[in-house]
Amino acid sequence: MHTTQLLIANEWVDASDGATSETVNPANNQVIGVFADAGASDVDAAVAAARSGFESDAWRGMTPDDRGRLLWRIADLLDRDAVEIAALETLDQGQPTFMSTGVNLPLAAQVFRYYAGYATKIDGRVAPVSIPGNLSYQRRVPLGVCALITPWNFPLAIAAWKLAPALATGNSVILKPAEQTPLSTVRLVALCREAGVPAGVVNLLTGGPEVGKALVAHRGVDKVSFTGSTEVGQHIVRASADNLKRVALELGGKAPSIVCADADLDAAVAGNLQGALFNTGQACGAYTRFFVHRSRVDEFTSKIAAAADALPIGPGQDPATIIGPLVSQEHLDRVHGYVESGRSQGAELVTGGTRVGGDLADGFFYRPTVFSGVQDDMTIAREEIFGPVLSVMAYDDEDEVVARANDTDFGLAAVLWTKDLSTAHKLPPRLHFGTVFVNQLPLIDPASPWGGFGMSGWGREFGEYSIDSFTETQTTFLNLS
Ligand code: NAD
Repeated sequence: MHTTQLLIANEWVDASDGATSETVNPANNQVIGVFADAGASDVDAAVAAARSGFESDAWRGMTPDDRGRLLWRIADLLDRDAVEIAALETLDQGQPTFMSTGVNLPLAAQVFRYYAGYATKIDGRVAPVSIPGNLSYQRRVPLGVCALITPWNFPLAIAAWKLAPALATGNSVILKPAEQTPLSTVRLVALCREAGVPAGVVNLLTGGPEVGKALVAHRGVDKVSFTGSTEVGQHIVRASADNLKRVALELGGKAPSIVCADADLDAAVAGNLQGALFNTGQACGAYTRFFVHRSRVDEFTSKIAAAADALPIGPGQDPATIIGPLVSQEHLDRVHGYVESGRSQGAELVTGGTRVGGDLADGFFYRPTVFSGVQDDMTIAREEIFGPVLSVMAYDDEDEVVARANDTDFGLAAVLWTKDLSTAHKLPPRLHFGTVFVNQLPLIDPASPWGGFGMSGWGREFGEYSIDSFTETQTTFLNLS
């Protein structure tokens, strides 16, 4: 049993009212952890600690070189404990081991190393002002106290995406992981402490939506960096207006996958299967709407359904597992509700559509599900399901498929499968999505920006975009005469 506390001003503490909540192993619904459930006074204490951490000489006075070394040390500690933390993530999130050890942990360490390098490269400019005898120069300065609010699907990696650039730029932070999956973030914060992050610079509040809401409304918080659902993102925009805090949003997606008539169909089936079902479909960039050229749609549907049916389902700890459990009973009910809506709205269920029984009946396991004959206006084609549900649709020509792919509120990712070089270059600019993959899985790399158009969010993470997003531009205007 894992029992965890809050981290405020470098001290591990219980919630001030002693409140706790539980987290379960989604593979068997057994309680695996009890975490401190922060209340309003803990939020106030964490914000005050983060403010003094931000203003402290230890942090403000740290040279960029030392900040870079600190981030590098955190990456080394993540590598040192990778096996243990990956196992914790699999236990808490359900994530198959090949994802937690092969993607989640390495990506977290990679992001810290990437931004360790940036700490010494955050430079400014000189503006060529036309006022005689004046010098105007710009620096990028940290924002102050940043609340980093994260979802349950890739808990560690997403916390790292935000924490590393926030620290590289000299901010202080309060991490607020999702209530379903707090354990790996608690370990990450412990590693920051071990690495020597000065007191108050990294704080941790575990708890539910109320903690997130209190941070978003708090006048002592300068920025909210949020990854989660579009609905909560909208709430954050409204609730953050009081002090006009900076808001960055990485929200939901409904990625179209366009399979052209000339595509290598076997490669498209294999890539789409992985793109749709990695992390059991619980991924914002997951491919979900399959627009397949009418000449190939039957072949595509039967091949992908057979391949989906053959994927090993089981606890994430089993090295053979490709499809793990969904994160919670609540989420399983939600996914099944979408499947029921697909059936009742007239889509044809090709495979899946049920919970897994037998030895796995206590866990939140759901069979990979493929629908064909899906219409664009069906709920399964419009709303984010965030589970292992694929909708296949036929298309006839390029203009039609572009219009249909773009006919969505979301705009995070899209993918195109073609062997034609001209199509590969001509179509992406016509697709209204933050990232367009071509003959590719939905990959993430810290050098390549990630974020959405439309209701998939505001801003971009990674590369220099995260540096910009965690800094303000400050001008100094100097009279030289
Ligand atoms: P969620 O929005 O329910 O919760 C995310 C976090 O916000 C949790 O920590 C939660 O406690 C907190 N929260 C809930 N209500 C809040 C409020 N009113 N104010 C402040 N904080 C609040 O999301 P989830 O169910 O944990 O994650 C799934 C969603 O995340 C999906 O929509 C998915 O697409 C999205 N996601 C997006 C990306 C991306 O990069 N665009 C990446 C991963 C997940």
